[in-house]
Amino acid sequence: MKSLQVRKGDTVEVTKGKDAGKRGKVLKTNPEERKLIVEGINRSKKHVRPSQSNPQGGVVDWELPIDASNVMLLCPGCERPTRVKRVRKGRKSFSRVCAKCEREF
Ligand SMILES: [Zn+2]
Repeated sequence: MKSLQVRKGDTVEVTKGKDAGKRGKVLKTNPEERKLIVEGINRSKKHVRPSQSNPQGGVVDWELPIDASNVMLLCPGCERPTRVKRVRKGRKSFSRVCAKCEREF
């Protein structure tokens, strides 16, 4: 099974593209395509037709998926973009350890 180092709820820093340098919280991950949706990153406007829940229609802001390779995970301990080491915890689970401050998260 493919897996991403980044999980839902993590904070990441964007390293490439128009939002490079910005940070945001991961709202969704797609391990198959190695894509992420990050709060406030890669926002795009979309025109929506009037509907029952939105009778006016109009323009909404939403986030488009970005490539997982374009972000670095931010360590909740040292708050720096970091690589993580995977440490086996029991049979199937792994926990992640910050390569810089050794914090487990
Ligand atoms: Zn750290």
